[in-house]
Amino acid sequence: MADIITLLPDHVANQIAAGEVVQRPASVVKELMENAIDAGATQVQLVVKDAGKTLIQLIDNGCGMSKADAQLSFSRHATSKIKEADDLFSLSTKGFRGEALASIAAIAQVEMRTRRPEDELAIQIRISGGEMEAAEAVTGPVGTTISVKNLFYNIPARRNFLKSDAVEQRHILDEFHRVALAHPKVHFKLISNGNDLFNLPSANLRKRIVGIFGPKTNEKLVPLEEKTEIVCISGFVLKPEYARKSRGEQFFFVNDRFIKSAYLNHAVGMAFEGIVKEGAHPGFFIFLEVDPNAIDINIHPTKTEIKFEDEHAIYAMLRSTIRHSLGQYRVAASLDFDH
Ligand code: ADP
Ligand code: MG
Repeated sequence: MADIITLLPDHVANQIAAGEVVQRPASVVKELMENAIDAGATQVQLVVKDAGKTLIQLIDNGCGMSKADAQLSFSRHATSKIKEADDLFSLSTKGFRGEALASIAAIAQVEMRTRRPEDELAIQIRISGGEMEAAEAVTGPVGTTISVKNLFYNIPARRNFLKSDAVEQRHILDEFHRVALAHPKVHFKLISNGNDLFNLPSANLRKRIVGIFGPKTNEKLVPLEEKTEIVCISGFVLKPEYARKSRGEQFFFVNDRFIKSAYLNHAVGMAFEGIVKEGAHPGFFIFLEVDPNAIDINIHPTKTEIKFEDEHAIYAMLRSTIRHSLGQYRVAASLDFDH
């Protein structure tokens, strides 16, 4: 009998791997925005059409890529962000897997134009279904523009699986908010079906929150501030009276990366215990800075989960910091009341 095992061609392997990285248009938005941040961009513009189903375009003014790097960037495990396994424990970038561009190019029609400051010309690449179609020198500004068209055009089953525009747009907004909150110094714009949805100039965190969630948010914010050996806590919680039935504005960032953590959520819940109505969820924008060595973010491809070395200590610190800040706010509020 003949041998029957073959190695899958790259474009097939990429299409399979893409399922892990790209679930929906919002996954592409997240990956492209994070790449722009990693590239040191100070201006990032996102353009979407039909909730990203027709077009997701990201324009940044970051470092750009050389011609060779631009072509290599669409290969799997091609990354400039880590070189060896040890680097995983001192990450300062959002990306490190080298999978996003390869995955996206496997399941969409992609065009990229990129230029470094030191290069005279940009390179423009077209790649569809993982097949490089063109690479040519063109004129263009410093930075990178990526257009991702017709996501899942070559996997009808996945394309049919996408939800309504309203639902997919919601997911895009969530990702946009998360990255924009994590990087208030960066100027972000979002244009959807030709309408300007957000224009968020470089700001501090408070102004960024207000820019996204509206001017009424300003008076709801109670600042957090705590610094210890293992964690630095900053950001805001919403005053307890603004806690709501639905989980609305709840954001954790660890080293400027949005994460989900039922465990930390619980710590916040405990801090608010007795001062919010039964079943109401407090809002928060909490930033934790920890030594990159003391966390592991390599446990899921979308990197929204995280493992802490000092989980219990961080839990306790978070709860007491919020308690303390709420206490100060309530003292201030009752003083106001006396006047
Ligand atoms: P990762 O971000 O994990 O390294 P990606 O597939 O997202 O993997 O990107 C591959 C490489 O392409 C990156 O490591 C980076 O060198 C380059 N790259 C991607 N997007 C940009 C961009 N907007 N500006 C400059 N370089 C980029
Ligand atoms: Mg990336």
